[in-house]
This record gives sequence, C-alpha cells and structure tokens, in this order.
Amino acid sequence: MKIISNELVKLHPGNEIESPARVKIEEIVNVDVDLALAEIEIRKTYTSRSYNFDTIKAMCSFGMHVAEVELNNDSLNSVLASVSVGIQALDNEDFALIRPPGHHANLEGARGFCLINNLAVILRESIEQGKKIAIIDFDGHHGDGTHDIFKNNSQVLFCSLFQGGAYPFVTDSDMHNNKNGLYIPLREGGDDRVFKQTMDIFIDKIRSFGPDIVAVSAGFDAYKDDPILGLKFTEDGYTYAGKLIRDIGVKTFAILEGGYHKKIGSCISAFVDGFNNPQQEIGEFH
Ligand SMILES: [Zn+2]
Repeated sequence: MKIISNELVKLHPGNEIESPARVKIEEIVNVDVDLALAEIEIRKTYTSRSYNFDTIKAMCSFGMHVAEVELNNDSLNSVLASVSVGIQALDNEDFALIRPPGHHANLEGARGFCLINNLAVILRESIEQGKKIAIIDFDGHHGDGTHDIFKNNSQVLFCSLFQGGAYPFVTDSDMHNNKNGLYIPLREGGDDRVFKQTMDIFIDKIRSFGPDIVAVSAGFDAYKDDPILGLKFTEDGYTYAGKLIRDIGVKTFAILEGGYHKKIGSCISAFVDGFNNPQQEIGEFH
C-alpha cells in the first residue's frame, strides 16, 4: 500500500479546519488524474434531479458557502481529482490522500465539509458488478452519508466507530435501521485499547460476511491531538488497525476522511506501515 495523491486536491479552499495544509505530508506518490473519467463516474452515481454533477459545478462556480466550506472553481477540480485518485487506490490497493472528505455527504446533498461521497462514486462499478464490499470507517465521526447511501444494501457491510454524542448526532433509531450496519459509539476519552477492541469486533463480522473488497474510510480525528473531538487514539492504534485489516486477506484500499491536527501524516504512515508489515509485533495496549 502506497500513499497516493495529486496536487489538485490542495486547491479547494475549504475552511480554517478542513484546509489544504492537511494534505501537505511527505511520503506521497503523485499520480496522474483522469478528470473526465471522474466526471463520468460522479454523473453515474449522482443521478438525482436536485443534486448532481451540474448542481455541484454551479455551486463551485458561484463561490457558494456549502457544508461549512467555501467553494470556488478549484473545488470542482479537487473533487474530480479525489475521485480519480480514489479509483486508482481501489485498482492498486493504495491509500488515497484526498480532499474534500466524503463520508458525511449522501446522494441528496453536501454535509459536514463533504461535497460528494467519494467512496460511493469509487465503489459504484464494483457494486454494479455484484462484488461484496466491507467498509470500515474509523473516522471519529459517524459516516452518516455512507450509511444513507448503503443502508440495507445486502452487498455492503458498513462498520463505523465514532465518538457518541458528537456530530452528526446519531440516534439509536439511526443506528438500528441498517441491517448491514455495525455501529459502535465510543465514550469521550476512548483510547487505543478501546480502538483495538472495536476493530476486533469489526474484523470478526467482516470475516463472516466474506467481502471481495475492504474499503477503509480512514479519518484521523479520533487522534489524541485532534482539536475537534475527544478521543485518544495514537499511532500505535492505527498501526494495529492496518495490521488487522491486512490479515483479512482480500483486496483493500483506503481513502482519507477527516483529521484536523498536525500529526495526520504520521497517523497515515502508521496505518500504512501496519498494513504493509503485518508480521511486526505490536505491544499490548494499556
Ligand atoms: Zn471526522
């Protein structure tokens, strides 16, 4: 697994929290992007009359303020490049360093810094081909957009952990209306020990589901230094998660979701390192 990206994902202005600085990290492999193909895939996924590629393009060209972020024409290029890098991550089992993030957006609109659900676009073709997908979302917020899109889809198992009581304020009924969802809210202060226990539960469920592809919505705002949440994960936890996910033994890729602190690069490296070196020993968490 390599960390792949493209310069265009830095152009979207975002806001003070979700800013281009998030993706200025070392160890990136820059890949070419196919923006025309990305547009075709977005159009095939976003087919509603009220929210589709043309709506998003217009929002960007009008410089609107949507889902708490500022848009301009560069935002559209960042969205397209993110989809293209993500598709290549799926093809080559890599980590896509992309922005804007996607897991709060559903097919009806933008939410929580997310304009489109990148994962839904990236996975569209595989789902159409009948493949079974397990999604692991370890961002510190619930992936409510991903939930909306894949709810009760028997091809998709969605495993999501998040800080309970934080945005997007999931209710019990939200959590129980997806037959193929495994949602685990964590208490504020939850650390690597809690992360490990949660990942172990996810992996058991995923093994019995038997996916063809594992897709990781990799957000890093559950990290101990993140300014907007109160979870306490560390690099060791992300290394363990990478190792466990590798052990499932099927085609796997990851895309960046949230994470708003200065250590995002070392968190991504820790996750990729665990995935690439599953034989390494990881100490007990206390
Ligand atoms: Zn988040």
